Amino acid sequence: MRPNPAVQFELSARVPARLREGAAQRDTLSYLRLLRLKPLPPVLDVTETRPILFVDVDGVISLFGFERGNAPPGSFVMVDGIPHCIGSECGGRFGRLAERFELVWATGWEEKANEYLVRLLSLEADLPTLTFDGRAVFGTAHWKVEAIDEYAGDRPAAWIDDSLDERCHAWARNRSAPTLLVETESHEGIADEHVELLLDWAAKVSAGAARRSP
Ligand SMILES: [Mg+2]
Repeated sequence: MRPNPAVQFELSARVPARLREGAAQRDTLSYLRLLRLKPLPPVLDVTETRPILFVDVDGVISLFGFERGNAPPGSFVMVDGIPHCIGSECGGRFGRLAERFELVWATGWEEKANEYLVRLLSLEADLPTLTFDGRAVFGTAHWKVEAIDEYAGDRPAAWIDDSLDERCHAWARNRSAPTLLVETESHEGIADEHVELLLDWAAKVSAGAARRSP
């Protein structure tokens, strides 16, 4: 058997012609042994084992519906000419959740969530982002179910959103994998109690004790 062409190509520039010719008669392992190189170990299994947390933006991170002159603590950012109030504690709260969950954007913002919010929330990197092909309808969330279900597969999954409706709850009830829906108030967004609920659920998932949305 001839050496693996890829290995041969990679090494050929620094292997004397005498050794290359001899190696052509040996199999790949002999070739590596000749060069006193060890085969690489198997590729590490990097399968994500944390549960997923699907993250809505409007009503969770970008707050609305509060009384004029009574804005919650936060900062305003302009997105496509529209001011958004980003809750001041959101970054720290999602930072805690990122330690136990794979965070995934599930928002009509789609890629704009990475563009505007990763830096504002001090997240370490862009998040995976679901796309909805123009199905987004402000004030509802059932149009997210198909994309969420496809991404979640059979993994444990939580979903935080301010507009969960019956179709969202039906999806959660019918999943066989552990599932948790967390609903926020649009004018308050994510709060410490939501973080604690999610972290507690994630711990139960790890222990094999969680099943479905309460
Ligand atoms: Mg929302």
